[in-house]
Amino acid sequence: MVAIERELSAHDWLGFERMTSPAVERATLEAVHPGGYINAIEETCVSGGGHLDLDTVVSEDSFEAALHAAGGAVQMVDLLLDRNAPYGFSAHRPPGHHALRSRAMGFCLFNNVAVAAQHALDARGLERVMILDWDVHHGNGTNDIFHDSDRVLFVSIHQSPLYPGTGPAGDVGSGPGRGFTVNLPVGPGSDDSVFGSLVDRVAVPLARAFEPQFVLISAGYDAHRDDPLGECAVTETGFAAMTRSMRWVGETLEAPVGCVLEGGYSLDALASSVAATLIALNEPVAAPALDGDGSRLVVQARERLAQWWPALA
Ligand SMILES: [Zn+2]
Repeated sequence: MVAIERELSAHDWLGFERMTSPAVERATLEAVHPGGYINAIEETCVSGGGHLDLDTVVSEDSFEAALHAAGGAVQMVDLLLDRNAPYGFSAHRPPGHHALRSRAMGFCLFNNVAVAAQHALDARGLERVMILDWDVHHGNGTNDIFHDSDRVLFVSIHQSPLYPGTGPAGDVGSGPGRGFTVNLPVGPGSDDSVFGSLVDRVAVPLARAFEPQFVLISAGYDAHRDDPLGECAVTETGFAAMTRSMRWVGETLEAPVGCVLEGGYSLDALASSVAATLIALNEPVAAPALDGDGSRLVVQARERLAQWWPALA
């Protein structure tokens, strides 16, 4: 957070208004996470902290930080739906997309983006929310929380194989949610063009078919080529291009676009990539330029998805 603040304050926050985030309301959090799970996290933190799982360690302050991380994402949804701005960015740690309903995982306590999406549906009466997750890790928590929902379209681009090992292309959701979970695994070394073409040729057409009333981006920056945890090769240019594409489709659908910070473990790359995203959010929008047929990954994904999304055939 300090690295991001330093980078952005050096650029006068790129014209964005900064706001502090309230702690999430208990009822809003309980729409995703059971009360007993929330209490257990609180008790572990209050009693001095400890391990929630192998790589999820909490301290005394973690519970409060997690409440504000979820609260920031929820407040962003409200601000954007109230038309205070067309787009926003909620930058908090801990991240959220690995958190399951009743289990902390991978540094994540509460699933911030899922809590925000559920709030948009329940409290704000939306019928369709899209979540694009471009963190290098699969957003297994978000995947599972909305697995059987046809009101949340979850699209994840993630490196495979990599932690947490979930998110194969064949996981398409369940029950009424079949076709509304879209997993797009990519190999190590995947770069701007791999991520960008999946956004432009799969996520954007899906958005146009689904017509979300709100677009959330699980914006992790560990697919950056300098990140020590991921093995992908995305650059600031690539994050900016994906942002522009999602902003364009949001604008055509009159849907606000809100980013929720996930991973990113090279502090320099994280700070410069968040800045690139904010700049791209502020730029004039244009339809993504699509030349050629797209990569094998794109062709395979579109073939797979065409049974639910004929527009992708
Ligand atoms: Zn990650």
